This record gives sequence, C-alpha cells and structure tokens, in this order.
Amino acid sequence: MNFPNKETVEKLRSAYPVGCRIVLDSMDDSFVHIPVGTQATVTGVDDAGNVMCAWDCGSSLSLAYGADQAHKISTEDEAKETLDWYGRHQPEENTRCPRCGEMMWGPKERHALSRYATITVCDRCGSEEGLECAGMVEKMPLVKWCAIALPSVGGGAWRR
Ligand SMILES: [Zn+2]
Repeated sequence: MNFPNKETVEKLRSAYPVGCRIVLDSMDDSFVHIPVGTQATVTGVDDAGNVMCAWDCGSSLSLAYGADQAHKISTEDEAKETLDWYGRHQPEENTRCPRCGEMMWGPKERHALSRYATITVCDRCGSEEGLECAGMVEKMPLVKWCAIALPSVGGGAWRR
C-alpha cells in the first residue's frame, strides 16, 4: 500500500473539494462493480488520500489512492447528466439557480424549466435560454453553469 504525504493529501483536497462532481474512469475492485462513466458527488478526501464519493448508483465506495481513476465533469454530455441528477435532488423551494447561482425564492414551480436539462432555473436564465434557442445569442455551455463550475469554490445548493 502506497500512502501519500500530507502535501499530496492537501492537493487532492483542493482538486476534489466537497460537492464537486466526478466521472469514473476505472476502479480496481473485484467485489463491487461500478460501471465506468458513473458519476459521483465528492464527500471528502481521507488522510490516506482516498476520495470519498456518493455514487449516483447508490454506492459510497471511495476512489483508492494510486489505484482508481476519475475525472471532473468536462463534457456537455457529462454536464447534462449531472444537471439532470441535480434536478432530481433540487429542493422544492428557496434554492439557487443552477445556471447563474442567484437565489430563486419561493416554490420552484414559480421559476422556469430549463430547455437543456430537467432542472428549474431562474426566470432570467429561462429567458436567456429562449434567446439562445432562437439563435439570438450564443449558447452558454453547460460546463459553465454555476452548478457545474462552482462546487469547486463551495457552491452548496446542489449538494444533497
Ligand atoms: Zn439563473
């Protein structure tokens, strides 16, 4: 077993902050099989450098330091999957817009349904999406949405 030093663990903690979303590339575990491509929410990094995860399939197996591989959400398809997942776990009221990060007060039914993922966005973002779909403004990539980009600085409204 290969143990990382304290500095390496700190680097891992800043690379994989609590709440960030990752995609599995490979896992060296013959007992629990999590399919490659499964997404997870990072719940922490332990002192041995293992990245603790809440996998969308329900498993809470950690990524073993030096053995298992994952990457952060990086493509539009991966971002859509994470946004759909957030949509299923979005609070019913007083939540943040996953696109711009602004608070959406009151019940989420009062706000707009995104055209790109099954998730509620604020009215302003809903209107902007309308302009994008009409070809009047350039589409904002899903990977730039706060809910994808911001967990790295502690955006918390999207955690379960
Ligand atoms: Zn918004």
